[in-house]
Amino acid sequence: MISLVIPVYNEESLLDELNDRCVGVCEKLGMPYEVIYVDDGSTDATLDKLLEFRNQNKNIKIIELSRNFGHQKAFSAGLAASSGDYTVMLDGDLQDEPELIGKMYEMIREGQYDIIKGYRTAREEKGLRRLSIALFHVVFKWLSGYRGMKNTGNFSMFNRQALEALLSMQERIRYLPGLRSYIGFKQGILEYKRKERRSGQPKMNFKKLYRLASDAIFSFSRKPIVICFYLGLAGALVFMIAGVYELLADAFGWPSPGWSLQIIGLFFLGSVQLVFLGILGEYVWRTYRESQKRPLYIIRNKYFDQD
Ligand code: UDP
Ligand code: MG
Repeated sequence: MISLVIPVYNEESLLDELNDRCVGVCEKLGMPYEVIYVDDGSTDATLDKLLEFRNQNKNIKIIELSRNFGHQKAFSAGLAASSGDYTVMLDGDLQDEPELIGKMYEMIREGQYDIIKGYRTAREEKGLRRLSIALFHVVFKWLSGYRGMKNTGNFSMFNRQALEALLSMQERIRYLPGLRSYIGFKQGILEYKRKERRSGQPKMNFKKLYRLASDAIFSFSRKPIVICFYLGLAGALVFMIAGVYELLADAFGWPSPGWSLQIIGLFFLGSVQLVFLGILGEYVWRTYRESQKRPLYIIRNKYFDQD
């Protein structure tokens, strides 16, 4: 059995095409399937449309979250409900073409791989959005040390064992592509061209993208703290030398820098400390968030076989 997990948030304008294509792909594969839509607190007709689909086709399952939890959590809700031998993570905006699932299945069926991830050879994002995504990948790779993550996103297929490993990750703050790298297994790559969103606006606005990026960085790296530590050490060394000079200058009447330099130094140090505190605060905040053990997402309704 194959399961498709698709988070949707206010996607009414493209649901018809999405569903037709996904169901088409699954039927072509000729095996039992389920398409699990996770309605991430949509405020438009998304849920009504999904219910219509389900009325006609019981292979369509719907999880309605109690509000907008964000697309990583919506994915998590769908993945937890998946019962397939193979599970696909697919964005609902048709940027990743459902037809590629057939190819992924062929690759994974050979048994050499446990996970197949889509690798984008072309990207449709433009301008500032594209630039910030590129910047994120450079920074993330450097900080986390994870290779081969650039140009891969959520689009991927897992076999049961790999999916169970992914689901066993307990953390609340989650960046699924990072966790996918973390769990290991044999990961194959399917190259494809990423399309433009079929319609509607991207639902990941800059604020959400920024959050995702910082979740990724702080969950997978302690380098920011290490960097602060070494910069602190370097600073201490410089100021120790300056201090010794200052004492000698006092004793022997050498020229010594005036007030302005001291004031500048004072403020500089003060601000650097605040920045470092901010970085430290990020970790403390995340530790606190994890310790609260709030549920990852809250389900309002499940439209499944049992009903
Ligand atoms: N999405 C979601 N919850 C959100 C934001 C997005 O479920 O809070 C869904 C959205 O409907 C789409 C997928 O996640 O199916 C990817 O979103 P989008 O295309 O906006 O992200 P991007 O392509 O910019 O990464
Ligand atoms: Mg998109």
